Amino acid sequence: MSRRFTRVTEDFDCLVCGAAVRGDGYTNHCPSCLCSRHVDVHPGDRGAGCGGVMRPVGVEFGPRETVLTHACERCGERRRCRTSPADDRDALFAVASAAATATTGIFAHPRTPVAPPRRRRRAPGH
Ligand SMILES: [Zn+2]
Ligand SMILES: [Zn+2]
Repeated sequence: MSRRFTRVTEDFDCLVCGAAVRGDGYTNHCPSCLCSRHVDVHPGDRGAGCGGVMRPVGVEFGPRETVLTHACERCGERRRCRTSPADDRDALFAVASAAATATTGIFAHPRTPVAPPRRRRRAPGH
């Protein structure tokens, strides 16, 4: 009784930055720019047929692992995946700070200072 494991170890060239990515069966994204392709419904099955570029839009730094969120440029599907030790730390931090800016974007630009509130004269009391 032999189970067949289909671990996909595919090498590919990153569509976005052109880096040659060595597939290790775990990571499906480019270690230098962290982009991926929307090809799988379940890892390795190539069932999505979308083919859009999935760009990193968020990073969660956990105590044990770092999880990356990808969003497909074409169809907008979001997906979370674990990062691999080969992933570029600087790129991860860049994504994290970009995501932080995006969520707090409305506060990024200080509003034009408004005139200080007029002092209310206290009504003479009895
Ligand atoms: Zn890349
Ligand atoms: Zn897609």
